[in-house]
Amino acid sequence: MVEITKSYIPAGTPARPGYPMDPTGVTIHNTGSSASAKNHMLYMTQNGGFNSTTSYHFVIDDINCFQLLPITENAWHAGDGALGAGNRKTIAIEVCECGDIKKAHDRAAELTAYLLKQIGGSAQHNVFQHAQWMAKDCPRLLRSGRPYSWSTFLDKVTQFMKADAPAPKKEPVKIPEAAAGSVYRMYSGADHLYTQSHKEAQYLADLGWKYEGIGWVAPADGAPVWRLYSGKTHLFTADPVEKKRLLSIGWKDEGQAFVSGGSRPIYRMYNPYSGEHLLTASLKEHDAATKAGWYCEGQEIKY
Ligand SMILES: [Zn+2]
Repeated sequence: MVEITKSYIPAGTPARPGYPMDPTGVTIHNTGSSASAKNHMLYMTQNGGFNSTTSYHFVIDDINCFQLLPITENAWHAGDGALGAGNRKTIAIEVCECGDIKKAHDRAAELTAYLLKQIGGSAQHNVFQHAQWMAKDCPRLLRSGRPYSWSTFLDKVTQFMKADAPAPKKEPVKIPEAAAGSVYRMYSGADHLYTQSHKEAQYLADLGWKYEGIGWVAPADGAPVWRLYSGKTHLFTADPVEKKRLLSIGWKDEGQAFVSGGSRPIYRMYNPYSGEHLLTASLKEHDAATKAGWYCEGQEIKY
């Protein structure tokens, strides 16, 4: 979002009549001068600009954006009279003609989108050229296609209104703490990870991994099962020869994950297309995965 610096014109001056306003639109101007937003702000607030009946709500260039009036008060900018809809119902933005004018106009489009979201309305129906209120070639740059056409400017406003829409909030997943020995099963969408650490499981869930439940409850004593990482996927093995071979081709040793012991099998499944591995204690899942093209790489791990 464009950073707005509030620097209001002194109240009770000709430039700030203070008529209450319930804005229904935004009017775009070009300044018609080479002065920066900062110089316009200084002129309006300190150097006598407040003595004239010309004013505006915002002035913006490629670097700064100043707000000179609250949007709940009118400005004298449209030239359509003391009771004119331009003056009394629209927020005035002066876009400077100095510096990077494309950037200045992009920023003005973003500011316009931000204002429209507050007051309601659309780029097509609630954004006006100064020229729509009186016979004046303003905003003169946009009207002559610099840095782009008026319709492009309106399209940008629409895009900013969409881009700024708040992302739909995802419910944060709180993984319940399970009994000692439980193996939390996590899925990134491309990688299955099994951990006995509730803290790690929750950390991954916060990163967007899916919690798929407790895989099984590992025994307290038994043979070590190591966790290895290829840089893309995790693999769990109780076989020291396999571990050594994978480390020799660049897999990373992430330590002992849990232990293997008992008589019930954990099936290790491999997806030859994606390279993923899956551990499951469910024969039903083993069968479904096999049917879907996964290989069963064995049942060395027990619980
Ligand atoms: Zn104008």
